[in-house]
Amino acid sequence: MKETSPLNLYKQLPQTNCKECGEQTCMAFAAGLIARTKKVEDCPPLLKDKKYAKKLAALQSTVAPEVRMVYVGVGDKQLKVGGEDVMYRHQMTFFNKPPFAYDVTDTMDEAKLVERVKKIATWKKFYIGNWERVEMIAIRSVSNDPAKFAACVKKVQETTDYPLILCSFNPAVLKAGLEVAAKARPLVYAANKENWKEVAQLVHDFNVPVVLSVPFDLDGLKSMAVTFESAGIKDIVLDPGTAPNGKQLQESLKSFINLRRAAVEEAQRDIAYPTIALPINAWLTTQDPVRAAYWESVLTAAFVIRGGAIMVKHSIEAHSMMPDMHLRFNIYTDPRKPVQVKPGVHNVGTPNAEVPMFLTTNFALTYYTVESDLGSNGINCYLMSINTDGIGVQASVAGGQLTPQKIKDAFDESGFKWEEQKYPALVLPGMAAKFSGELEELFGGKVKIMVGPEDSGRLGEWMTKMWPPK
Ligand code: SF4
Repeated sequence: MKETSPLNLYKQLPQTNCKECGEQTCMAFAAGLIARTKKVEDCPPLLKDKKYAKKLAALQSTVAPEVRMVYVGVGDKQLKVGGEDVMYRHQMTFFNKPPFAYDVTDTMDEAKLVERVKKIATWKKFYIGNWERVEMIAIRSVSNDPAKFAACVKKVQETTDYPLILCSFNPAVLKAGLEVAAKARPLVYAANKENWKEVAQLVHDFNVPVVLSVPFDLDGLKSMAVTFESAGIKDIVLDPGTAPNGKQLQESLKSFINLRRAAVEEAQRDIAYPTIALPINAWLTTQDPVRAAYWESVLTAAFVIRGGAIMVKHSIEAHSMMPDMHLRFNIYTDPRKPVQVKPGVHNVGTPNAEVPMFLTTNFALTYYTVESDLGSNGINCYLMSINTDGIGVQASVAGGQLTPQKIKDAFDESGFKWEEQKYPALVLPGMAAKFSGELEELFGGKVKIMVGPEDSGRLGEWMTKMWPPK
């Protein structure tokens, strides 16, 4: 969506302020369209009343993302792939983080298959207030046997409801997989120069999204995309080739950048589709599993940064997955809004009437650092996070987002009962030490104000020396 002014979108709305969309005004709805918290379909009058047909068409075309959004899977695990509007994150934000798809094969014995699928589907890591997870399973046909592939797809579906990628270049194998799983809207990998006619027919018949694979030939890829689109197949993902090393890796990375640029800066609609990268190809470069897992992680990082919209991977060891999970999380947070936690009083461990109340801001990075330092030192306590619009302690003290009055108001709103505490004491971060005197006054002497360390890593030492207060 190139449009960034709500006023221009407002012109295409009915302008009745009927509130049916859940917003108070059409202007608020227009702002929601830009922020992608609202969809055009959320405005019932625009959809129902024929007199708005022209406005509806204009609005739909204006708000369509520059890179087509492709839906894979169904239900609450359905994934949005692509749908980006900008080349660089700082120009606005990226919206849909690339799902990580971990592979299984149709030659695995059943027990191992089920065990791996369960491992993939249950993997999670808590990071800055979110559970990071794997999102997809890529089922690779190694046997090239339609019956074996169908049985494998069936077993995976019995074990998890994760969205799937069905991987084979053999149309008969793909057909067998689709007969089992088409209702779950899997992504088909892939149509190539040899099989594209049969695969086009299959994805048309089963109404599922498809990857077009034409490695290291962007003109060929474009021409195949045009052919598919002219056949009415629009849910397309592009595979421009993922070389695992050497000069061809350089070419691969350039192709990903060029495809994104063609979509968002040059408005080449016939190639404006999301891309799939195969960091799993790292396993072609070495027999050593540790080196392969490491290189797979490096390739994933390189392709996430270049805008790859799906990553197909193999290594589920923590040392390979964690760096990519963290990188992806940070790239796909909205740079316009710092990551925040809910303001208010939080429990750390099992607090009781004899524990201290620590204070920090609602900037997620600060909050979770303090919380983790408290937790790892075995400190049971309360932790108040003050709403500073997601700004850290030092900057918010300097910028006026954290003030003694704001702290007092936050406690009043929280309803925290100081009188039930044996030692009613509030521990300020060292960087907010200058608020001590004013806070003592604001609390009317009923709460002792203490000053903690500047670095939360030293909270354990601080507790030993300073708690309980004398
Ligand atoms: Fe405006 Fe449509 Fe919302 Fe009604 S439903 S307020 S017409 S945007």
